[in-house]
Amino acid sequence: MEKNSSSYIFSSLSNIGGTGAVLLNKIIDPALSGSKLYAKLEGLNPGGSVKDRPALYMLKNALEKGFIKDGTSIIDSSSGNTGISYAMLGAFLGIKVKIYAPSNMSEERKKIMRLYGAELVITPAEESHDGAIKRAAEEYERGGKDMYYMPDQYNNPYNPIAHYETTALELLEQTGGNIDYFATGIGTGGTILGVGKRLKEYNDKIKIIAVVPDSEMHGIEGWKYNYSLNFEGFDGNKIIDDFVKVDTEGSYAMLKRLVREEGILCGFSSGANVYGLKKLAEKYKGNFATVLPDTGSRYLSTRVFNEI
Ligand code: PMP
Repeated sequence: MEKNSSSYIFSSLSNIGGTGAVLLNKIIDPALSGSKLYAKLEGLNPGGSVKDRPALYMLKNALEKGFIKDGTSIIDSSSGNTGISYAMLGAFLGIKVKIYAPSNMSEERKKIMRLYGAELVITPAEESHDGAIKRAAEEYERGGKDMYYMPDQYNNPYNPIAHYETTALELLEQTGGNIDYFATGIGTGGTILGVGKRLKEYNDKIKIIAVVPDSEMHGIEGWKYNYSLNFEGFDGNKIIDDFVKVDTEGSYAMLKRLVREEGILCGFSSGANVYGLKKLAEKYKGNFATVLPDTGSRYLSTRVFNEI
C-alpha cells in the first residue's frame, strides 16, 4: 500500500507509533530527587501495545519483498501482544493470521485475537513461550513458504529497526534529548536494542539498562527469563550497559501505584519497568526514560487486577 495514499493515512496503520509520553512525578518527584522519569504510553497504539510497531515493520518489509502473496497466511508464536498486532494488521490488510500461544495467556488476549479473525493454536502452559515457538516452527516447516510467512519476531531485524526508527526518535523529541538512562525489560529484545542503539548514536553517554526478572516463574507477561538476542545489526553486548533485577511482588506494587497515583491503566511489564527505574534512581541522579508496553485493559481477568 502506498504510504501517502488516503486509505493508508486514515487507517489503523498510520496511527501506529507517535504515542504520548508522561513524566511520572508521583513515582519520582523531580523537586525532591533532582531526577525525572519519562514514560512512553505504548498502550495508546491501535492494537493496545508497543508490538504494533515491529509487527507493522515486519509485515511491510515482507509485503515489499513479496514474501506474502495472495493466499499466504502469517504464522508466528506470541505471548499475546504481537499476536494481537498481527491479527489487527491481518484484518485490515486482508491476510489470514495463525498464532501459537501458551494457554496461560490472559483470556482477553485470546478473545481479542479471535475477534480480529485470527486462528489461535493454544500450546501447553508448562512449555511456556518456547513450546509455542517450537510448535509454530514445526507447522511452518510442514506447510512451507507457499502456505505461510513467518515474521519470526525473535530473529527478524525489522523488529528492532521499528524501535530504532520510531520509538527512539519520538523519545528524543519528547525529552529534548535529555536522557541519561533508558531501561526496559526483554521479551524479544526488540525494544531495548532498537531504542538503545539509536540513543547511543545520539549520545554515547546514555546508559542502556535491561530490567530482568529475579526468578524464572516471574509471571510478567511479555518478558523472557532465558532470553537470547539474535538480531543482525544490533549487538546486545555493545548496546546494553547494565542490568537491574526486579521481583514480581515489587513489580505488582509499582503497577498498582501507576494505576492509582498516576492514573495509567497499564500492564505488568509496565510496573516492572518502572520498578526497575525506581531502583536505579535510588543509586543515580538524572533523567530516566522507559516505555509502558501495553494497556491494563487486557489483564482484567487476571489475579493481580482483582487485587488492585
Ligand atoms: N512487555 C510486554 C507486555 C510485551 O508484550 C513485550 C513483548 N513480548 C515486552 C514487554 C518486551 O518487548 P520486546 O519484545 O521488545 O523485548
